Amino acid sequence: GDDERVLMVEARGGRLAVVDTELFVTSREQWVAWMGDREPPYRQETFYREARRATGYLMDGDEPLGGEWNYDEKNRQFPGADYEAPDPPEFEPDDLTRRTREWVDETFAGDYDTEPPGVGWADPEPFRWPVTREAALEALADFCEHRLVEFGPYQDAMLSGEPAMNHALLSGAMNLGLVHPREVIERAVDAAKADPDVPLSSLEGFVRQVLGWREFMRHVYRESMPELTGANQLGHHERLPECYWTGDTDMACMADAVEGVRKRGYAHHIERLMVLSNFALLYGVDPAELNEWFHATYVDAYHWVTTPNVVEMGSFGAGVFATKPYAASANYIDEMSDHCEGCRFDPDATTGADACPFNTLYWEFLDRNADELQSNHRMGLVYAHLDERGGRTVTPAGTAVRTGP
Ligand SMILES: Cc1cc2nc3c(=O)[nH]c(=O)nc-3n(C[C@H](O)[C@H](O)[C@H](O)COP(=O)(O)OP(=O)(O)OC[C@H]3O[C@@H](n4cnc5c(N)ncnc54)[C@H](O)[C@@H]3O)c2cc1C
Ligand code: SF4
Repeated sequence: GDDERVLMVEARGGRLAVVDTELFVTSREQWVAWMGDREPPYRQETFYREARRATGYLMDGDEPLGGEWNYDEKNRQFPGADYEAPDPPEFEPDDLTRRTREWVDETFAGDYDTEPPGVGWADPEPFRWPVTREAALEALADFCEHRLVEFGPYQDAMLSGEPAMNHALLSGAMNLGLVHPREVIERAVDAAKADPDVPLSSLEGFVRQVLGWREFMRHVYRESMPELTGANQLGHHERLPECYWTGDTDMACMADAVEGVRKRGYAHHIERLMVLSNFALLYGVDPAELNEWFHATYVDAYHWVTTPNVVEMGSFGAGVFATKPYAASANYIDEMSDHCEGCRFDPDATTGADACPFNTLYWEFLDRNADELQSNHRMGLVYAHLDERGGRTVTPAGTAVRTGP
């Protein structure tokens, strides 16, 4: 711990002052005070409320603004045919970015399977990532002006060829320290005050991500390392399918998400959780290998934030805050995206040549992990459903997807 380090330095005649990082709104002391004698699984929602009280963000005295702490139920809509995704800003690459790109082009000039590997990763034009303070402020202003208004309702939706939709694209800038999360929240609050069209559900939904999830993940990481990196409570040991690197798959949802990651180093939260890590979870991929993939391929990857998201939220690795796995069949993706319409697989079929792999794998996942999951009260309904569907007769199809027929 910090005290030991201070003592070690002092014992050698030096002086060590440990200061808190400037990348977050809440401090380690606040987390420790909140945690008290709480045991895992830690609840993000209660920590988020505590952070709201402590900062005064979206508060009306002691009460949450609008009367509710959380407007999540208004954050799950799918846009209508007239929806147009606002175009995110582009940035003129600065000198360092240009030189880095030249170096990457020269060093990684090969194909996926020819040395030196590289082609198809990173879209050179247009460049959409803020890498300076000025660009980060521009990105923040652009989000507040154009995308915040519908951030809430379409937060969970996925549209083919629309990687950003109403998302902020600010994780990289915040993780790099180009903008402070406090600044991000306050600009969003000001923008909502100035624009009566911004509903509270959009503003609260956004603040919950930054003040709730981002802060919570940082503290959970500190609390549960180093065990979290290797956590694998479901005992999953499959290798990551090659399509995560090549994008070569008939599954329309996976192809679109991987294509976005290859081009931009980005996929939005629901693509990360309900497509990319959901598939890996159902397939039984080793969480550590999935974690490596997320680290290698995303512009916003840092161990403190990638690991709890991938190993815990995406893979149900440790049970440190997740109370059940985020495992879903094609039903979820069909409801929240337009991918299934153009897919060669049938989202309604569980067996047969056209059956969506998410379905076949989903039932096999439940069967495979029944010992660990069946007694979980949050999983009771799905296990009852598995039995209704003819019990384990559907599961061999899932095994065939994983191991070959
Ligand atoms: C499997 C998986 C891997 C992830 N890996 C990363 C990662 O490497 N780096 C990273 O910063 N985020 C990661 N996330 C969290 C989240 O998906 C990204 O922060 C978000 O998609 C970034 O895009 P955005 O800025 O457009 O976010 P928005 O959707 O617009 O959200 C606004 C901000 O809220 C914060 N936020 C939202 N959700 C989370 C979360 N679960 N954890 C931490 N911060 C959150 C981010 O700072 C984000 O910029 C991961 C999530 C999952 C499920
Ligand atoms: S049918 Fe299955 S694989 Fe195809 S897009 Fe839908 S969920 Fe994805």
